Amino acid sequence: SSSLVQEKYGKISKDYQLLNPPLGKGAFGEVRKCVHKATNLTRAVKIISKAQTPKAEQDRLKQEVEILKQLDHPNIIKIYEFYQDQKYFYIVTELCTGGELFDKIIEERSFDERKTAETMRQILQAVNYCHKNNIVHRDLKPENILYESNKPGALLKVVDFGTSLAYDPNVKMNQKLGTPYYIAPEVLSKKYDEKCDIWSCGVILYILLCGSPPFNGENDEQIMNRVKIGKFSFDSEDWAGISDGAKSLIAKMLEKDPTKRLSAQDVLNDPWLKQASGIDVVDK
Ligand code: ADP
Ligand code: MG
Repeated sequence: SSSLVQEKYGKISKDYQLLNPPLGKGAFGEVRKCVHKATNLTRAVKIISKAQTPKAEQDRLKQEVEILKQLDHPNIIKIYEFYQDQKYFYIVTELCTGGELFDKIIEERSFDERKTAETMRQILQAVNYCHKNNIVHRDLKPENILYESNKPGALLKVVDFGTSLAYDPNVKMNQKLGTPYYIAPEVLSKKYDEKCDIWSCGVILYILLCGSPPFNGENDEQIMNRVKIGKFSFDSEDWAGISDGAKSLIAKMLEKDPTKRLSAQDVLNDPWLKQASGIDVVDK
């Protein structure tokens, strides 16, 4: 297939100046800011060491590039180029300067309902677009959702398609991956489909409103055991002032049975989400 995103060998330094310090670090590499020499525009580059990356992960990286190339949505990070030289792979994408949703939650402890709904609406629009194109993300969490800039009202962008997959809607998946707090119970126990992303979004929604995760524990094993049981509560003080509409949406996203769990489109149509995010203007 022809593509606007070219694969180039050993030429990143010809086109880009890489800047320090790293913006973020991951399992197999780091993300740095870079300047496109021809236009002077700043972008981000995810750099992955070939020597430190097992073959399976290298294949996954190419999958990430292929998927990013296909996706074109305002709430999904855009890819510009993919380079490689003897030592590294480089994925050049648009730069987000506003930081992770994760850090914003830590900073503000929790969001009010309006801000939560507007945040979730953007995330679900990205997820709905992915699912309509038969792409599942599989690692949705606040560390992988970035603010485009520091300006008020900055768009959110979903990043890190390193665990994503172009799936066949008629074939269930079985690879166990994700992050303990956010992973869906069916991913841990049996075959699963794209609804695993909705569970993770339900966890994000819960955290945004109260500031702590619905399934918690002292270690990953304990957290995942609680995910498998799937019981969560709105008992803490933090939930006292939160509307029934918000709680009801969480319950429909953290539904253990994926066939009964809402789809991304269903979440976008939810009355609380529409009303609280200001999309639906209700006559009084
Ligand atoms: P990993 O697979 O290692 O988790 P990510 O793609 O999630 O890699 O990137 C790691 C971190 O780097 C992110 O959580 C974020 O903080 C930062 N980052 C990633 N992409 C960008 C970007 N386009 N702009 C700014 N920061 C980014
Ligand atoms: Mg990540």
